[in-house]
Amino acid sequence: MSKPFDVIVIGSGFGGAVTACRLAEKGAKVLILERGRRWETKDYPRDLNDAWIYDPNEPHKRNGWLDFRFFDDMAVAMGAGVGGGSLIYANVSIEAKPWLFKKGWPQEITYEELAPYYDRVGKTLNVQTVPDNQLTRRFQLMKEGAESLGYGGRFYKLPLAVTFDKDWSPDREDPFNDKHSKPVENAQGQKQGTCVHCGNCPIGCKVNAKNTLDLNYIPWAEKHGAEVRPLSVVRYIQSEKSGPEPGGYRVYFDRIVDGKLIPGSESARRVIVAAGSLGSTELLLRCRDQYKSLPNLSRFLGRNWSSNGDFLTPATYNNRQISPTQGVTISCAIDFLNEDENAPQFFIEDGGAPNALRNYLESKEPGVPPIPLARATVKALAELMGPADPFGNVMPWFAQGVDAADGHLYLGRPWYAFWRKKRLQMDWEIERSKPVITAIINMHKLLSAATGGRPQVPLFWTAFKSLVTPHPLGGCNMGVDATTGVVNHRGEVFGYPNLFVADGSIIPEAIGLNPSRTIAALAERIAALITV
Ligand SMILES: Cc1cc2nc3c(=O)[nH]c(=O)nc-3n(C[C@H](O)[C@H](O)[C@H](O)COP(=O)(O)OP(=O)(O)OC[C@H]3O[C@@H](n4cnc5c(N)ncnc54)[C@H](O)[C@@H]3O)c2cc1C
Ligand code: SF4
Repeated sequence: MSKPFDVIVIGSGFGGAVTACRLAEKGAKVLILERGRRWETKDYPRDLNDAWIYDPNEPHKRNGWLDFRFFDDMAVAMGAGVGGGSLIYANVSIEAKPWLFKKGWPQEITYEELAPYYDRVGKTLNVQTVPDNQLTRRFQLMKEGAESLGYGGRFYKLPLAVTFDKDWSPDREDPFNDKHSKPVENAQGQKQGTCVHCGNCPIGCKVNAKNTLDLNYIPWAEKHGAEVRPLSVVRYIQSEKSGPEPGGYRVYFDRIVDGKLIPGSESARRVIVAAGSLGSTELLLRCRDQYKSLPNLSRFLGRNWSSNGDFLTPATYNNRQISPTQGVTISCAIDFLNEDENAPQFFIEDGGAPNALRNYLESKEPGVPPIPLARATVKALAELMGPADPFGNVMPWFAQGVDAADGHLYLGRPWYAFWRKKRLQMDWEIERSKPVITAIINMHKLLSAATGGRPQVPLFWTAFKSLVTPHPLGGCNMGVDATTGVVNHRGEVFGYPNLFVADGSIIPEAIGLNPSRTIAALAERIAALITV
């Protein structure tokens, strides 16, 4: 048996990185167990054969960048790796609306209560907006759409966790080339570069201009003695009645070593579950229903899950260049979150996408034999196949909204695989969330029409009423007691002292806009209230 830690943190996304950092700062001996890799910029996936997919059922075989889960009427995208969703996210770091906390949240959590923690997150993530000389065509299109519909007052730039260089200009020769990135050192002493607007934010920033958690909170935690163990998949947690940490918890995990799973365990007086909305909910469901190691977990576990009302409508333009592969993935919003209980609440954003072809060709080139003919052939192919601006006339209109937050997660088997081990399942009924999704689509249509575009509402909605979300929320919701939630306002699990959940799974209602700043602020508060 190894020496116990003061705190074990499971997961290293917004909840995990923040709590680990602040508790290590307070002097606790912290261990972070993360199921994914510790990525280096040179290893970010670019080629078709690269490690894109994380398979939660066989993580020893596939432990790549993105965990994409398919349920009956919902698909969920999540990051996997040290830094969690920050590696893959679009950098938007925005506070929730003050009125949002009036309904469905424990009374202790108000905007005023969270305000200092929001500030702290904003400072640590060095949040800023895109400089005026670097605005994209997407930004201009959004602004024009908002103004022509009379919503100019609702349009604004979004706060982003990106390091910009005010001297960068799109008029430079080959402007998106990494060579234009300037080296900088951040407040945590980490080397970063400035943004060259290459559009690759969701597949990893090669110049480290994204202020991801592995460049701030996590190294700061390590500076204060925290240990990070990547490729460590936590399976279950057990209360320690005896052993080195009576009254604490033992965490059982599998380490991924050379394609194999090697079991291990560690114990600590306190455990913080921060494996994300789906990850934490599944882990606690397994503790309650499969291993029966935490049998008294609330019956509310898995209830009131939200997709945060995400929707994407691409629109095509005949005579207009939009260039969605250029610039940071998201930069601005038209805000319809206005506390009117009778109106659907939503938030429109511009959307970008990486230039997959350019990335693919660039990543292949180093592998081409150093023979002039081979190099010339690849170059010619790149010029033929790789237009600088693919999908140049498409505008991806994004949005999020306040949905009904009435999804249900549980362990089970689909009827067509009754022999299989139980997996995470989701019941999702669209009925109560339909008004907000319909309102979003209508606004996307109006904005497209106002700017001369033709909206293409995706078939998965028109035919199947299915949704895709990168913003899963809830599952281990905050509540007043075990009949209304799984954790209290401090993130502590009802019935299990010193066991905490700190991530998107504790958020009890849809936020209607990008949630990572709120998750991080709640994690800052949870860590502040723990005495080590
Ligand atoms: C493409 C994309 C773009 C996005 N853009 C934005 C944006 O611009 N702004 C925004 O606010 N949000 C954005 N999001 C959402 C954001 O990433 C999430 O809301 C956020 O990361 C959730 O934080 P979290 O702490 O709850 O979980 P996560 O950040 O997901 O962290 C959970 C961590 O736990 C690990 N884990 C899971 N299970 C286990 C286990 N059993 N053992 C050990 N480790 C485990 C995971 O690998 C992960 O690292 C985006 C998401 C995606 C997919
Ligand atoms: S646009 Fe490119 S350089 Fe800028 S933050 Fe995104 S990935 Fe990094």
